[in-house]
Amino acid sequence: MPRTTVTDSGGMSDERTQRLIAADLRQVWHPFTQQQGWPADDPLVIESAQGMYLTASDGRRYLDGVSSLWTTVHGHRVPEIDDAVRRQLDKVAHSTFLGLTHEPGIELAAELVASAPAGLTRVFYAGDGSSAVEAALKMAYQAAAQRGENRPLYVHLEHGYHGDTLGAVSVGGIDLFHATYRPILLETRQVGSPGERAGGQSPAHRAAEVLIELSGVLDRDGSRVAAVIVEPLVQAAAGILTYDVSFLRGVRAACDAAGVPLIVDEIATGVGRTGTMWACEQAGISPDLMTLGKGISAGYLPLSAVIATEEIYQGFLGRYDQFRTLFHGHTYTANPLACAASLANLALMRERDTVRHAQWVGEELGTLLKPLSDVSGVHEIRRLGTMTGIELRSPDGSSFAPSLRTGFAVCQAARAGGVILRPLGDVVVLMPPPAIEYDDLSLLVDVATESVREVLATRL
Ligand code: PMP
Repeated sequence: MPRTTVTDSGGMSDERTQRLIAADLRQVWHPFTQQQGWPADDPLVIESAQGMYLTASDGRRYLDGVSSLWTTVHGHRVPEIDDAVRRQLDKVAHSTFLGLTHEPGIELAAELVASAPAGLTRVFYAGDGSSAVEAALKMAYQAAAQRGENRPLYVHLEHGYHGDTLGAVSVGGIDLFHATYRPILLETRQVGSPGERAGGQSPAHRAAEVLIELSGVLDRDGSRVAAVIVEPLVQAAAGILTYDVSFLRGVRAACDAAGVPLIVDEIATGVGRTGTMWACEQAGISPDLMTLGKGISAGYLPLSAVIATEEIYQGFLGRYDQFRTLFHGHTYTANPLACAASLANLALMRERDTVRHAQWVGEELGTLLKPLSDVSGVHEIRRLGTMTGIELRSPDGSSFAPSLRTGFAVCQAARAGGVILRPLGDVVVLMPPPAIEYDDLSLLVDVATESVREVLATRL
């Protein structure tokens, strides 16, 4: 193993850790986790954090290599964000946004509109990313219904991922996560993934191919389509599948031609992670509805939003007896603590030019990861900005048997080296916080590289 960050001080007693783990195993059901195997996975109890590092109950420190599921921006316990949340705590922790309003929610909406792609003017808050996606899907459907149009269909991409609630699952395209639920989902039309290319095919060629497919679907069914939904430039949960900007431009053009609104889901890509504030900036397009979440509150508290065009928003105005209200809203919508954290996050990002820094992080990642791409068993390294996926396959191009849990084994090896990673199947994901500095970044890549080599040596 390369340099390690493990220290052995100040942790909980072993006995307390064991008691906590035993209680977890008795009563807790973890997300995306095969509970039968979980006890053998050596559960880690996270107790505290500082900057880029998480500290476990035994006192060991681990570099947070996936930004706590793609959320942290400046790391953990950022004094400016901690202070903003504390100041808000001294005022009010929560008050509903249904029928009332508050300063952090108002201020944050202004900031979001100022930073959003042109034409997006109205901020509708939700909680988790999935709930923003639900709201966007309903907005698109209801907007059409209020114009007297029946548009019960959605168009989405193969390998797309938009969350785990049923509307979001309906527009998902990852069989492993979504196929089980198909009998209880909304009706959709799925087109191919622009990120999945046949050997040697260029990204632009694949983009053109899927755009033809999309045009066909919109020609046939466009008048019944409420919206097209895509993740911009990166299909993240599918294993960081990146695609060409021409695809996003083409989707915009196809939606315009068919008179269908475009939902761009920036929940994973937004807030600097791709090297621009929003990924769709790189294609120079504006959606009709944009969802955001994760990094907006910098890994502090759940907050998400849909930003809509004025045209969509105006369609919801009317007399009470016209019932054009958007009957949607979550209990903790626009939670003031989360809004305060988000405002502090955006202020810091401006002050420190974090988006430009993220661009630099991406370039450094590309350089540091280069030697790994020649290793037998490393099928492909995909990256946009800081979002990175290292796909492992047998050298003949076939996948490793799922039961081998190769990606997981790499993450366990990385953990032993002092870095927390989480795989997507056999894609090892590196998702450092946009504000990470060189030493931590190079540690992340060193440990990931060594862990990949170590595990592949047992597979080949
Ligand atoms: N959309 C995208 C593109 C995502 O990557 C995710 C989460 N990984 C979601 C939506 C769902 O967000 P949440 O988990 O906060 O519900």
